Amino acid sequence: MLGRDKESIRFVIRGVSPAFANALRRAIIAEVPTMAIEDVMIIENSSVLYDEMLSHRLGLIPLSTDLDSYVLPEDCDCKSELGCNRCRAALSLESEATAESRYVYSGELKAENPDVKPVSDTIPIAKLAPGQKIRLEAYARLGKGFEHAKWQPVSSAGYKYMPSLTVDQRKCDGCEKCVKMCPKRILAIRNGKVIVEREMDCTMCRECERHCPQKPSAIRVGWDDGTFVFYVESTGVLSPERVVEEGAKILAKKASQMHKSIAAMK
Ligand SMILES: [Zn+2]
Repeated sequence: MLGRDKESIRFVIRGVSPAFANALRRAIIAEVPTMAIEDVMIIENSSVLYDEMLSHRLGLIPLSTDLDSYVLPEDCDCKSELGCNRCRAALSLESEATAESRYVYSGELKAENPDVKPVSDTIPIAKLAPGQKIRLEAYARLGKGFEHAKWQPVSSAGYKYMPSLTVDQRKCDGCEKCVKMCPKRILAIRNGKVIVEREMDCTMCRECERHCPQKPSAIRVGWDDGTFVFYVESTGVLSPERVVEEGAKILAKKASQMHKSIAAMK
């Protein structure tokens, strides 16, 4: 692991093909289940937003996801269209503007289960003028990103090849052009020679190569195509580690299913 903060993680995977790295990226984006509002029962809506628009906005609010207590509706034993406690979580909203117009924020959604609630309290849902009112019940369920982007657990998931920079010290005359031109400021000059300070931050834009007065350039940008630097940023619904772990589990499950089918053919 290279680094982590509350919502994102950076790590290195070694010894895999680009196809594997991409499979992991796609599993993370489209197949790790998360909670999102899917059904809305509008009891009263005198706001200027149509019911459909209001429901759509509610669906896009990221909800904290408890993957250990809930199952996908298609995997649930209840087989009920309305769902049960294992495949559905209810939230309600009751909001009114009295004297002044005001915004309704995600923080006003009351969650039946405190583990399934908006990850942020400050997402605007609607604006109400005096006298306008919204009353509704919303039902969240687990879903996957390939069905609708509202179930995507990440706002960003990507990777790059592991960068590898080499400076030919015999050719480098320390003119500093590459140091100045690098947009990531990963190069430095020491004792009149260019050195690579933060290789991992290189985006392989090759500005350094282009601006080197030596022909061919004294600095070379290369990469290792069996090693990848991954960056995953969660929307807050799951921890970034859990998102990666679930993505890897999905790949493992697919591989084992394939293995079983091949074994059955023999
Ligand atoms: Zn159920």
